[in-house]
Amino acid sequence: MGRKIGSRYTAHQILGRGSAGTVWLGEGPEGPVAIKLLREDLASDQELVGRFVQERTALLSLDHARVVGVHDLVVDGNDLALVMDLVRGTDLRTRLERERRLAPEAAVAIVADVADALAAAHAAGIVHRDVKPENVLLDMQGPLGPGGSHPALLTDFGVAKLIDSPRRTRATKIIGTPDYLAPEIIEGLPPRAAVDIYALATVLYELLAGFTPFGGGHPGAVLRRHVTETVVPLPGIPDELWQLMLQCLAKAPASRLRASELAARLREQLPLLAGMPPLDVDEPEAEAPDEGYEETAPQPREQPPRRGAVPLVPGATPADANRDTHTSMRVPAPDELAGGARGTARAPRAAGTVRPGSARHRASARRRRITLGVAGVVLAAAVGAGAWYATSGDDADPAKPNTGTSAPPMP
Ligand code: ADP
Repeated sequence: MGRKIGSRYTAHQILGRGSAGTVWLGEGPEGPVAIKLLREDLASDQELVGRFVQERTALLSLDHARVVGVHDLVVDGNDLALVMDLVRGTDLRTRLERERRLAPEAAVAIVADVADALAAAHAAGIVHRDVKPENVLLDMQGPLGPGGSHPALLTDFGVAKLIDSPRRTRATKIIGTPDYLAPEIIEGLPPRAAVDIYALATVLYELLAGFTPFGGGHPGAVLRRHVTETVVPLPGIPDELWQLMLQCLAKAPASRLRASELAARLREQLPLLAGMPPLDVDEPEAEAPDEGYEETAPQPREQPPRRGAVPLVPGATPADANRDTHTSMRVPAPDELAGGARGTARAPRAAGTVRPGSARHRASARRRRITLGVAGVVLAAAVGAGAWYATSGDDADPAKPNTGTSAPPMP
């Protein structure tokens, strides 16, 4: 037996749990499927259900080999479900946790696949808005590609937008996962296609380094780094690949590559990366707190810094302490952003090259103090200009998504 979902589907066993709901292995008229049952609080939100129905056409129309296809959206009593292609494999987060860092060839091949998926979505006017390793599935039944990696597929299209109702994100709320948030979102601009490119370049950095460029510590500090800090080069990374990443991590969205170009440029690099071992990068060093900064949200020192694992609201429940999408993140107050929190040092280092107290370490601490000072000024200006809120971005996507209200009602 199993649990009936609408009249056509049966959910048999749980495949995984995510922030928006539980994913089941199920059966439909055309064979096995994955069924994502949205969380009860989301499913009982009338406004969200309305959007869910409205988004139906856009979600169902996105048909690409690198996108986990959505077959159906089911509204049935209290159930709200997305019926998707079943991907037999694992997600990229699981692989990264197992291997810690990926060889450049495999990392680039995976990210090129995701860039293909984004190119198709962006061409259809859809911005993903939550690109992160959890939303990349590796199809273990697919053929092995460069670096021995299985085909990668991007999932959860439209989910960030679905749960991003105006009511949920009004005023000072933003949607996304802090480590992967493009600076323009933090500054309150609408999320256009370039936010996905920034997030994907962040994923590539993370696959190569084992940590994200701006993650770690208090969420306010993470957001601030996206806006004010420059990314630190990874030791041993081929220059061409690094230049490509830098371009996609540019603060100005217009400077970033488009998804199709990114995919092509990444694939060009593959022959050069063949056989290269994972980069020799240490975890970023923990830096002593800067003078004059109080620790309002301390992390236990003995634990490694958590990336993307930071509750944006101090004192949030442990459920918030993972890399789940934050559906109700509060934008920290100016004082939290400008200095009420202790950030963590982000400079990666080749194994054993920088020691606390060394000249490089002191220089880094000095740089950091200057950065924080600049951040304070920038943030004060931003807050003064009323820029610290985010929008749902409905009317600002590049080519307005075909998510119009003309979608037919669910059968
Ligand atoms: P959320 O986006 O709500 O956080 P996910 O989409 O990440 O949830 O799903 C949670 C887990 O369910 C994933 O890590 C993966 O293991 C599994 N899963 C999700 N979608 C599929 C799918 N289409 N096919 C197979 N397994 C899936």
